[in-house]
Amino acid sequence: MGFKAKARKHKADSGESEKTRKKSASKQGEIPCGVKSCDGFADKSLGGRSLSIDNAIDVWGSSGYTERKGRVRVCKSCYRKWKKENKSEDTY
Ligand SMILES: [Zn+2]
Repeated sequence: MGFKAKARKHKADSGESEKTRKKSASKQGEIPCGVKSCDGFADKSLGGRSLSIDNAIDVWGSSGYTERKGRVRVCKSCYRKWKKENKSEDTY
């Protein structure tokens, strides 16, 4: 009846907010990515890697990263970006 249809409409509204919540439910890490323009996490459990300073400079420039004990911790996607720019190892 009319009253029931109203209740259903209310449910649909809350379903929409659930969708937006799902988007932000990504894994949280503890070690921030060393790339300044990136807000990812460099935790090993999340696929993070550590690069040497020289490697980081090649891709992000001398001021585009944050150093940690002589290494640059990067998240998974930044590591992939670095790998892409350093393809020479994979060729041949
Ligand atoms: Zn990153």
